[in-house]
Amino acid sequence: MSITFVPAPAVPPLDASVDHAIQAIVSGASTDATCATDLAAGPWDFDARPGYGPGSSMGDVIPTGAPRQGELPAEYREASEEELDGRIRAAKATLGDRVVILGHFYQREEVVQHADYVGDSFQLATAAKGRSDAEAIVFCGVHFMAETADLLSQPDQAVILPNLAAGCSMADMADIDQVEECWEQLEEVLGDLDAVDADGRVPVIPVTYMNSSAAIKGFVGRHGGIVCTSSNAQTVLEWAFERGRRVLFFPDQHLGRNTAKAMGVPLEQMPMWNPRRALGGSSATELVDARVILWHGFCSVHRRFTVGQIDQARAEHPGVRVIVHPECPMEVVDAADEAGSTEYIRRAIDEATEPTAFAIGTEINLVRRLAAQYPQHEIFCLDPVVCPCSTMYRIHPGYLAWVLEELVAGRTPNRITVSDDVADPARVALERMLAAKPPVVAGAR
Ligand code: SF4
Repeated sequence: MSITFVPAPAVPPLDASVDHAIQAIVSGASTDATCATDLAAGPWDFDARPGYGPGSSMGDVIPTGAPRQGELPAEYREASEEELDGRIRAAKATLGDRVVILGHFYQREEVVQHADYVGDSFQLATAAKGRSDAEAIVFCGVHFMAETADLLSQPDQAVILPNLAAGCSMADMADIDQVEECWEQLEEVLGDLDAVDADGRVPVIPVTYMNSSAAIKGFVGRHGGIVCTSSNAQTVLEWAFERGRRVLFFPDQHLGRNTAKAMGVPLEQMPMWNPRRALGGSSATELVDARVILWHGFCSVHRRFTVGQIDQARAEHPGVRVIVHPECPMEVVDAADEAGSTEYIRRAIDEATEPTAFAIGTEINLVRRLAAQYPQHEIFCLDPVVCPCSTMYRIHPGYLAWVLEELVAGRTPNRITVSDDVADPARVALERMLAAKPPVVAGAR
């Protein structure tokens, strides 16, 4: 497998900070708007309570068993930004190559600046795989990402999630019990799901987006299915259609719909599966006629983008290039000039040779970072309201300082492990994806 390394972005000036933008709004120094003024404080008050907390997922229903984070010691909660920055740098220097810090594109600037690798979830997990010398992998992202890093890392490496309350509302929309139940109901409608037809295809192939729990990836691996990312979804669907008459796609309905539509699958052959309804809320006939069965999940960050925002961007910035993430609703993807993964968006901007106005439909931390890194372009978020991902926000520099200093003290906090019975089939599903299309890995700083 050949792997392409992309250059890591230079550390941008601090005005890329979403935290600073929100603090300016709350203090009255900025006339911009934010979706939640609570975001100006640290996440500690929300970590002890049920719910996703402030930010884009505020209205989503959190599963009752979602992990909570124990109380962070006061010395970290009360430390200034400068003090935390110094403590993180000192602990990192002490740990040296024993630790590798991974920073997701959607993390706050104050965390990303300490990352050894920056990228999307799979890029980062793949980068961690190349650092088998590190005893600890500190994953500044959300829970399913740390699980994926654990799947791909060495057994003696500890993957650490600085705040256990950093889940993902989209991943939480498909839990393993619901998916098992769905599979049983599909078997009642479609017959033996292992039966191969004259073309060598089974009735349905399960495909899960990377943004899902390890348990779901394990389910997919056990049932002949595969994982996809936002950058290889079409390749993966082609792989699945060669092996199955239908696809069950979860948890993100929008990525599934946008990808299948671009491949020519008619909308009427993409029924929805709502896990709270019998047969997912579709009729048996609709399921039999389906090409892609879409799980009723979504990302609350990308659901905020609208066609009205695109119209406004075009009215205010003639010639603007509108690029949105494929987790956005179909009508937004259809109205945009382009749609692509975070890596696609980053590359499109990087490769623009003339000063260009870009309106971007993805998470605000990435958009502001790109704006700071490419000052020759005018880059802005389609959504005028500053509203970061609620769960990415949980990784505050206070938590990063805490886990690093715990490692210095010889303790291993917040370790994320996937049991072997789940990990083995989950790796099979990931390996199928790698064989279908190798990824681009995250760049080292
Ligand atoms: S941006 Fe959306 S998919 Fe990504 S972690 Fe946040 S809620 Fe989950």
